[in-house]
Order: sequence, then structure tokens, then C-alpha cells
Amino acid sequence: MSLRVVVVYPELLGTYGDGGNGRVLVHRARWRGIDAELLEAPADRRLPAGDLYCLGGGEDGPQLQAAESLRDDGTLAAAAAAGTPVLAVCAGYQIVGRSFPAADGRPLEGVGLLDVTTVKAPAPRAVGEILAEPLAQALAGLPTLTGFENHGGHTRLGPGVDPLARVVAGVGNGDGTEGAVAGRVVGTYLHGPVLARNPALADVLLGWASGAALAPLDDTEEEALREERLAAARRGRRAAAFRRRVEAWRR
Ligand code: GLN
Repeated sequence: MSLRVVVVYPELLGTYGDGGNGRVLVHRARWRGIDAELLEAPADRRLPAGDLYCLGGGEDGPQLQAAESLRDDGTLAAAAAAGTPVLAVCAGYQIVGRSFPAADGRPLEGVGLLDVTTVKAPAPRAVGEILAEPLAQALAGLPTLTGFENHGGHTRLGPGVDPLARVVAGVGNGDGTEGAVAGRVVGTYLHGPVLARNPALADVLLGWASGAALAPLDDTEEEALREERLAAARRGRRAAAFRRRVEAWRR
């Protein structure tokens, strides 16, 4: 039977190209001879059964619509409770938490897969390259995570989750940590798409979904992309530190 990778509501949660995560997963499975199919699941239909669900980022209005549909539908919560892996990015991460803010800051109910609460953060919006070192036990041994963030919310972690990573450059959850993980549900602020930039994370999710030991792949091209993005983020971090020194000197 083929491995079903479901990209949830691409018309609502597709603003940041996170649908690419589904494509990365399907290709990394097929490259290993594992039969896999990509299901793009529209919001006006019942969510299909899947072996792995991906949610992406989106704007405030579509994000609210997606959360309401997912709560009414119930499929995602049931799948996650049964141990099906879920990757949720940015708006998707906020949605799978307990609550997230409307455009006016009012708390809206999430799907409740992760014990996290998102609140409106003081301006400016977190926009830019982000680097984070994996912390969660499930991700032990994974290399530095690289991605791009663009969000106005900060996420507080409850006792039911572990932080995914520690922020080295960028904002993430807003408290020095990035993302959250509980069981096989992974939430993160990293766009990129995150699985194109971090194939090792893709393989953790694929391993969970397929239950198979995964053969290594030739990731030379992915590694070249990683090196280029890691260097860009480090340059950005040095430039930010320099700007802070100049500002302090002016005061
Ligand atoms: N609307 C949410 C925020 O600004 C999520 C944005 C996103 O998905 N990039 O925090």
C-alpha cells in the first residue's frame, strides 16, 4: 500500500510555499523505493485518511477558517491521537495548539494537538532567516535547523510539549525556543520549505510514517543549499549584532 502524504487545505495554508514539504516527503520516500502519493486536501471536503499530515502557513483570515474546518472535521485530531505524524508550520503550528490570536488579538480556539498557546507579540513582526539547534529527544543528533520565519505571534509552551529547538538566530517561539513536539506532532515556525532545507527532519517524519528503517540518500545538493542558507543566517546575525552596537554607541 502506498504511503499517503496529505497536504492540508493548500488554498488556505499555502501562502508561504509550505506545500513543498509534502513534495519533499513523497520524493524522499520514492527515491528509496517506497511507494508514496501526495494528496492535496481542499477545505470544502472531508479530510482524507493519511499516513502523514502537513499544514502550512497562512494569513490571519484563512488561518481562522482552517482551524474551524479542522475542528468540525475531526479527522486530524483522531489521526494524531492514533499516532499519525503531523508537521505543522507557522499558522499551521498555531492552529494545532490550544489557542491563537485573531487579527485584533482576541484568542481563537485551536485544534489542541499541542499544548501551546499563541499570543500577539509586540511589533515588529518576526521576519527573516532563523537558525535553531534541535533539543527534542525525538530529534537527537539532527543538524542545525535552518528556515525563514514571518509571523506576528509568539508561542508559549505548556508542560505537555517539548521545545523542538533552541534559537541561535531569529525569534521562533519568542522565548529563545523554537517550535514544539509531542509524540509525533511537530510544530515549527520554519518556512523554506523546512523539509527541503532540513532533509534529516523529513526523514524523521518519514521513518515514523513508514515504520521502516530508511536507507541513506545522496544529499549533496541539499547539503549545498544548507551551507548557503546557514552562511546567510550567520551573516545576518553578525550584521544585527553590529547594528545593535552602533545603536548603543549613539545613545
Ligand atoms: N498569521 C500568523 C502570524 O502572523 C501566521 C503567519 C504565517 O503563517 N506565516 O503569526
